[in-house]
Amino acid sequence: MSKILRVNMTNLTTKFEDVPEKYKFLGGRGLTSAITCDEVPPTCHPLGPNNKVTFATGIVTGTTAPTSGRISVGGKSPLTGGIKEANSGGIAPQKLARLGIKAIIVEGQPKEKGKFWLLKVDKNGAQLLPANEFVGKGLYETYPKLFARFGKDAGIIGIGVAGEMLMSMAGVCVNDPENRPSRYAGRGGMGAVMGSKGLKAIILDDKGGPGVTIANKEAFETGRKKLIAALQKHAITKPGGALNTTGTATLVNVINEAGALPTRNFREGRFEGANKISGETIKETCEKRGGVGMVGHACSPGCIIKCSNVYPKPDGTELVSCQEYESVWSLGANCGIDSLDVTGELIRLCNDYGVDTIEAGVALGVAMEAGLAKFGDGKRAIELMHEIGKGTPLGHILGSGATITADTFGVVRCPATKGQGMPAYEPRAIRGMGVIYATSPMGADHTSGYTIAPEILGVSGEIDKFSLEKGDLARNFLNTTAYCFDSSGHCLFISFACLDDRSGLEGVVEECNGVLGTKWTVDDMIRMGKEIVDREWAFNEAAGFTKSHDRLPEFMKYEKLPPHNVTFDVPDKELDKVHKR
Ligand code: SF4
Repeated sequence: MSKILRVNMTNLTTKFEDVPEKYKFLGGRGLTSAITCDEVPPTCHPLGPNNKVTFATGIVTGTTAPTSGRISVGGKSPLTGGIKEANSGGIAPQKLARLGIKAIIVEGQPKEKGKFWLLKVDKNGAQLLPANEFVGKGLYETYPKLFARFGKDAGIIGIGVAGEMLMSMAGVCVNDPENRPSRYAGRGGMGAVMGSKGLKAIILDDKGGPGVTIANKEAFETGRKKLIAALQKHAITKPGGALNTTGTATLVNVINEAGALPTRNFREGRFEGANKISGETIKETCEKRGGVGMVGHACSPGCIIKCSNVYPKPDGTELVSCQEYESVWSLGANCGIDSLDVTGELIRLCNDYGVDTIEAGVALGVAMEAGLAKFGDGKRAIELMHEIGKGTPLGHILGSGATITADTFGVVRCPATKGQGMPAYEPRAIRGMGVIYATSPMGADHTSGYTIAPEILGVSGEIDKFSLEKGDLARNFLNTTAYCFDSSGHCLFISFACLDDRSGLEGVVEECNGVLGTKWTVDDMIRMGKEIVDREWAFNEAAGFTKSHDRLPEFMKYEKLPPHNVTFDVPDKELDKVHKR
């Protein structure tokens, strides 16, 4: 029987609780959002004592379900002021699930400011240990020390200096299978919320843990096999397929060709240096430089897609893992930088300081717009990243994200919604994505509804990327994603196979039925997804959000985006269709 672990940082106590009936069928985002809605006052300060940060594994995480090692981190976001869920792979999610823990809720704040703690969890229970010796240092220095103390098999969920300094772009870092501090629940500043609780890291040892109970093994196995078959057959997810060979950055050339690769702070939709930072070039460089370089790397055990990579320096030693699409775009094309060695160094700094690569790259693009650096100046971009890590006054501004950076320096072209920087798809050229950015409860977030599938990739049908009637499409993607992927515990990248091949999606449902002993259908899961999104919207409304927050930045309505010379013309009434108020 799984439990909820409640950690009170004011009294420094830990307590295991039974899972309330209402949470029994929830996992991942469904669970973090339900707990946030039930326990966090919507108007509280995100970094104050009344916010809580919840870590919840997906429903099938910890089992043999393919590509299912995900953890959701949720609470009220310091970046958006609304509800937030960010999720990550890595080693820790499966360990937490196998310890029989459905969620960890961290609440309160230490009485003494500036003190940090480790939460150590193993089969015997949970304890808080002083962490001050691990504070103030980069994660490439800190994680090896934590492994030296707690063993190389530990799962770690931690924050870097940006989280300690309560910066709104701070993410939550999970170790990958080789124990790098490289997998992030990056978006929305949940690292700052963790920092505000004085929690430096959670250390998980699952040896002797009870494992995940499977109520109906036959249903689970049937579903697992269906999903594996769908993943192994689809051109994007199969072994030797697009994600496995050229990684997510395989999209750089595709989106650039579509005229939708945001370039130089969203001034243009096509980047002349795109191919130099593409997935194809990552693969070629890994092969040419050799050494530790590799594509087809798995970020968590049991992933059969394996879209990650290890990018080498010219001498074959490791520069960073991983150069993925959003990161090479945000720190590359969006800053006018066309060198993978520079994006690699910037990603490494993001990993080291503990910040979200998307928000960092969008903030740097805004800073370049403000004249703090020239577009394309990688050396200066690296210097600006160090400002964040050192916590200088300029670093605090940048570390607060794109919106604060724009407000500070008077930049009107600020590509953000609800305070969160936009990911790597230009909404003027891919309108469905724009509707998602505008209406997602999470702020600008591509993972909450990946309409790129039909609008660009021809997955689940083909939809004209310029058409304006995208309200229904966005709603369907938001609702499907919320349960089928973000709550089941699967990586979003299974969605390509599941959207094209219904048996893959049925497989996900049957796996969940197997674990929970339920008899749900695909439609049930989509209905529950809608309930999650509705609940998140209710939280945001109670926090003060109105229709006016469901809008893209004004400049996108009057600045034409080359090369298609288009503005974001989706009418407001189409945006208002997405959520019924
Ligand atoms: S598909 Fe990629 S991001 Fe998803 S779990 Fe596998 S390696 Fe990680």
